[in-house]
Amino acid sequence: MFNLRKLPYDKSAFSGVFISDKTFDYHYEKHHQTYINNLNNLIKGTEFENKSLYDIVLNSSGGIFNNAAQVYNHDFYWDCISPNKADPSKELESALNEAFGGNFKETFINSATTLFGSGWCWVVVDENKKLKIVQTSNAATPPINKQIPILVVDVWEHAYYIDYKNARPKYLEEFYSNINWDFVSTAYEWALKEGMVSVKFYMNDIHKEQN
Ligand code: MN
Repeated sequence: MFNLRKLPYDKSAFSGVFISDKTFDYHYEKHHQTYINNLNNLIKGTEFENKSLYDIVLNSSGGIFNNAAQVYNHDFYWDCISPNKADPSKELESALNEAFGGNFKETFINSATTLFGSGWCWVVVDENKKLKIVQTSNAATPPINKQIPILVVDVWEHAYYIDYKNARPKYLEEFYSNINWDFVSTAYEWALKEGMVSVKFYMNDIHKEQN
């Protein structure tokens, strides 16, 4: 049985600044919870019943994959924002500058803005340890391509519609101002050191009850 992860902050932490507690009521308590419930129901009696989230995401397909990946995508998204301001580590800052020619913010927001339909915009460390921005549609998630996420923004409409209606670029600007750079910098460090093992470690840590 998987359980909905706890949030690392109060649901009103971004109220009036980025996203409202009403968005958390829907996005976290209803949407994210539904992916958990669906996953628990779908794996019952299958080879995935007692598997870790990492094993399910990497080896399943169809409805099981969609719900397992959406559990992970949302787990990770909540960690990518924080009400406490921080800066990227020196290592990450210089890697972002090198990879995106000093235009990381603009490139990332542009990529997230132009993603058609529902999906996610990520910064990943690829197999050559290079930083890349990738878009995924619906539930798709970079670890299935051996890419290690260090940052993600949810651009499904349910992520911003209550607070921003159709204004995705405004949501993205505010998202950017609330990025948890401490978390992202640590994810980058672990991605370089441990590769895909860091993804497994993250999922196992969030879903200890299933391990
Ligand atoms: Mn979402």
